Amino acid sequence: MQRPFNVTLAASAVTLTCLAAALYASPVVIAENMGRQVQAFAPVNAGCSSLANDEPSVRADSVDETREHSTMTNDGTWQTVESEIDTPESAPTKEGSTQDATVDAAASPEDTSEPYPSEASTTRITSELPSNDTEASDPNATDTASPTAAPEDDTQDANIPEDLESPDSMTVIVNKARPLPSDFSPDDLVNLPDDLTAGSQQLREQAAEATEEMFKAAQDDGVELQVVSSYRSYDYQQRIYDNYLDEFGVKNTDAMSARPGYSEHQTGLAMDVDTPGGDETLTSTFGETEAGQWLADHAHEHGFIIRFPKDQEEITGFQYEPWHLRYFSEQYATHVAENSGVAEIEFGLEPAPDYQD
Ligand SMILES: [Zn+2]
Repeated sequence: MQRPFNVTLAASAVTLTCLAAALYASPVVIAENMGRQVQAFAPVNAGCSSLANDEPSVRADSVDETREHSTMTNDGTWQTVESEIDTPESAPTKEGSTQDATVDAAASPEDTSEPYPSEASTTRITSELPSNDTEASDPNATDTASPTAAPEDDTQDANIPEDLESPDSMTVIVNKARPLPSDFSPDDLVNLPDDLTAGSQQLREQAAEATEEMFKAAQDDGVELQVVSSYRSYDYQQRIYDNYLDEFGVKNTDAMSARPGYSEHQTGLAMDVDTPGGDETLTSTFGETEAGQWLADHAHEHGFIIRFPKDQEEITGFQYEPWHLRYFSEQYATHVAENSGVAEIEFGLEPAPDYQD
């Protein structure tokens, strides 16, 4: 009789103590705060840590993917992202109206014609619209050119590549209207020499050889370069995109990361370059550095172009990325670089400011 009583007493005391402590500490509040903390920080941490824990190239990848917000990519921090998102020019109205198909469709022709360097090129684009716009299902396409108008009647401009479509073409164009198949991966990827890269980096053979040449030429001019990101698989791009999506929602994520299938890195012909130890990694200010200037002046001599030139996002879909190079071969890269600098314009393709869906 006495023992059970004592046990009951003790149990009651423990229960009371626990209750009191629990009440005192406002467990609901704690739980909510913890929940909020988890919600507020876990996705960032999950994204950052999972990316940071990968090889260096992965980290660079995640950073690069924020290319529309190049300053954000510098350190990839949350604060920078916030400030970028708050910055009107880093969150272009285009991005903001992504969901508004009618506004976009109506705005596209006027908006996109402005950045064109000349009347001539504008005319050429609208008159040369090749079969590519069939896959874009762009409402504008119907009133600009017949989808069946093939590039043949371009008088076979030698400076327009014949194959802009095949995923494994050296001249395939990938943009927000021209995704790659999810199962595509190049079959001639090779590793770049370690002394040219941060982490392990792969490109298609021809682009890799051109990179080695270009880096040697840069070195001869006293400019040190390294590849910080190169080939990325569809699945890898998916992981990057999803990491952002959880935290930032579709609109902001689309401004920071290419959707899987829409990254040129999947071609094995694109890479991100910086100066070893430089502070301007994956930022727009890289374009002002000696290395950035050198690339702008000489990349085409080695078959590369700065794929997303300044103030051309209404055509390319991406803001200025002085670090992102795309291989096209010397002939085509030189043609692009010595004219408008924009592949879509020089190759007679429609602007691709936004995703089609
Ligand atoms: Zn890139």
